[in-house]
Amino acid sequence: MKILALETSCDETSAAVLQGNMTQPVSVLSNIISSQVAIHAKWGGVVPNLAAREHLKNCIPVINSALEHGKTTLDSIDLFAVTQGPGLIPALLIGTNVAKTLSYFHKKPLIGIHHIEGHIYANLLKTNNDPKKLFPLISLIVSGGHTQLIRMKGHFQYEIIGQTYDDAVGEAFDKVSKMLDLGYPGGPIVSKQAQDFEKSISTIKNKKLKNELLSISFPRPMISSHDFNFSFSGLKTAVLYFMKDMKKRKIGIETMELYKGAICYAFQESATEVLVSKTMDAVKRFTPLTLLVAGGVAANKKLIEKLKESTSELNSVHFVSPKLEYCGDNAAMIGVAAFYRYNALKKANRLKELDNNWKILEADANMKLQKI
Ligand code: AMP
Ligand code: MG
Repeated sequence: MKILALETSCDETSAAVLQGNMTQPVSVLSNIISSQVAIHAKWGGVVPNLAAREHLKNCIPVINSALEHGKTTLDSIDLFAVTQGPGLIPALLIGTNVAKTLSYFHKKPLIGIHHIEGHIYANLLKTNNDPKKLFPLISLIVSGGHTQLIRMKGHFQYEIIGQTYDDAVGEAFDKVSKMLDLGYPGGPIVSKQAQDFEKSISTIKNKKLKNELLSISFPRPMISSHDFNFSFSGLKTAVLYFMKDMKKRKIGIETMELYKGAICYAFQESATEVLVSKTMDAVKRFTPLTLLVAGGVAANKKLIEKLKESTSELNSVHFVSPKLEYCGDNAAMIGVAAFYRYNALKKANRLKELDNNWKILEADANMKLQKI
């Protein structure tokens, strides 16, 4: 079956064409992403109405480009899929209304997908999809809006075993970047600064300065809380106070740049250590066959390295992370989730629901993960 998927929940307009059957991993025929990062960067974050305006402008050209690259026409699409939520409501409304129109006009079913479900299922674009080898699994969700540990005994059988009490980890990366005047979006910038600092340590000649930079350390919030919950707002505040103290000292620009790198490094060490420690506690407690990581922060090399290293010590769990191109927001992840949801609904004799979706589907900014 051929699927056309749309994603417009935040600041990327994306359309993808996928081909799926149950004997092979779903293949992506095209995955076009039009990013609005440059537009929102000057505001230091995503402006919802600006995002909606850009989605409206770009949605049809992005769909046309996905069809062209996927060597497909709208007539040969069997299923339309769209991010229903969570996300920014003005942005979600554009994608859902375009998808509803396509479903009505082409008389093909429409499926609404939870954005985080898309991030989870992005991992299935490269793994063997035999559920006997995949489940039970634990998924570490790390994005700009979510930090969760989810346990799944089968497709769409979600059980949230832990989550953040306050900021999501991606949000903490973004805020640290803002505090250090490094720009937006913060995650990739902070991780690059941390990486460059790590590489440059051996070249710093001034021993006192080198020791000072290496001694910077931030708290590991809730690392010993004996549950699977997280908190990142205290870590962010610790960085803020450290920066305030730094500004009181009269430091030259070059040294300040070194300090910023060291702060990014220390922050990333704290955040990733907490994520990995809690995840490995969950792996030990629930003994899953697979550990997945999902969401924009899955692009963080340090996090992936640490998870790989920790899981390699346990032979019983298979670690999977998404390809870099599927870590950020994209429509291919929505399409692959739609493929599995469609097949699960088929098994449950509930496919009829999808034919009427063009009438009833509504964008839902606070959508919850839905079991089948
Ligand atoms: P999402 O909410 O899943 O779309 O992911 C976006 C979030 O991922 C933002 O908070 C980004 O700052 C963050 N992010 C992207 N790349 C990285 C990275 N390499 N390291 C840490 N965070 C990242
Ligand atoms: Mg996302």
